[in-house]
Amino acid sequence: MIPPIASKFVAGETPAEALDHARELNDRNVAAILNLLGEHYDERRPADEDAEAYLRLAEDIGAADVDACISVKPSQIGLDAGVEVFRENVERIVEYAADRDVFVWIDMEDHTTTDATLRAFEELTVEHGGGVGVCLQANLKRTPEDLERLADLPGKVRLVKGAYSPPEEVALTEKSAVDEAYRDQLEYMFEEFDGGIAVGSHDPAMIDRARELHDEHGTDFEVQMLMGVRGDAQFDLADEYEVYQYIPYGDKWLSYFYRRVAERKENLLFALRAVLGR
Ligand code: FAD
Repeated sequence: MIPPIASKFVAGETPAEALDHARELNDRNVAAILNLLGEHYDERRPADEDAEAYLRLAEDIGAADVDACISVKPSQIGLDAGVEVFRENVERIVEYAADRDVFVWIDMEDHTTTDATLRAFEELTVEHGGGVGVCLQANLKRTPEDLERLADLPGKVRLVKGAYSPPEEVALTEKSAVDEAYRDQLEYMFEEFDGGIAVGSHDPAMIDRARELHDEHGTDFEVQMLMGVRGDAQFDLADEYEVYQYIPYGDKWLSYFYRRVAERKENLLFALRAVLGR
């Protein structure tokens, strides 16, 4: 069982708990992105097992009355075991989910995986006429070109600042430079994309910029935030825009919880307050 202190950021160990959390969010107009925790499997077996778990999850979502999609990590479904393992599994998941009208996001991991991830996305989104989304990281120097490459494709693109620490040959390392790049890239998306824009950020400044660009260009966008982060803002934004909460679940919750606390010390306080009920 997940201890109360971690349950602010992780929905539970089972898909049933994640779906229950999704239903509660749906009642407040927020949709769900479900992610089974797991990454960096060097061997095929665990990657195949997690791919199977995603098929079952897509089945459950398809059969349930719940507004939810799924998000997978390439190294969770085989990229570290071999690019062909990842390709086989991601194709399987996207096809199975598409048959059940379930949208699939592909998360972006460290910069060495960008090419393989984008190639898979490009092929799958064309084959399925959308139904697939990919994440791009504003801190990578290559991202403006990647956005150009994706602008005319169906599907969605989630723009995030970037959770990894790539070397400075390939990435912006100053926070202010990353923020500026994020704004520029958002602007490009609103100018060049027909839709499918997802703002994956908790930053009020980036969300305000997206609102301004939406007013200027009329293009719709969705906001995506993590479970346990700015929960009230998620509900407030859902009165006006499409909002998705990214919901991790599964038995590998401990390292995810540590990561949330390590990246922002206040998260520990939040979690403690939630446990203490104040
Ligand atoms: P930051 O730059 O961290 O913070 C800016 C401001 O946002 C803060 O000053 C504060 O006002 C507000 N804020 C931020 N965190 C909090 C908090 N805990 N509580 C209150 N206010 C806060 N990264 C990847 O590399 N690949 C992915 O596939 C990926 N997927 C993601 C999916 C989603 C839905 C989200 C939300 C993020 C994802 N990320 C991913 C992580 C992302 O790259 C950033 O590391 C992370 O979102 C932190 O950047 P930020 O834009 O939220 O704001």
